[in-house]
Amino acid sequence: MAATPCPLCNGDKTVKCPKCHGGGEINCGKCGGTGFIDGEVCDRCKGTGQQTCFHCDGKGYVTCPRCNGSGED
Ligand SMILES: [Zn+2]
Ligand SMILES: [Zn+2]
Ligand SMILES: [Zn+2]
Repeated sequence: MAATPCPLCNGDKTVKCPKCHGGGEINCGKCGGTGFIDGEVCDRCKGTGQQTCFHCDGKGYVTCPRCNGSGED
């Protein structure tokens, strides 16, 4: 029986990160994405309002949860 490509990742073995939607960055959890807290520059994101996505480690993609990285259904 021939292996079928995983329908979720299409055989790519990875899928776009659901947390950052592939951008590799998410809104800073400390300032909520504004870059400031009470008028002060947020020390976690240095005022950018963004931080590296912890879910994908900034890569923008994660191992496919359906095939677990095998690429096959
Ligand atoms: Zn991510
Ligand atoms: Zn921040
Ligand atoms: Zn897959």
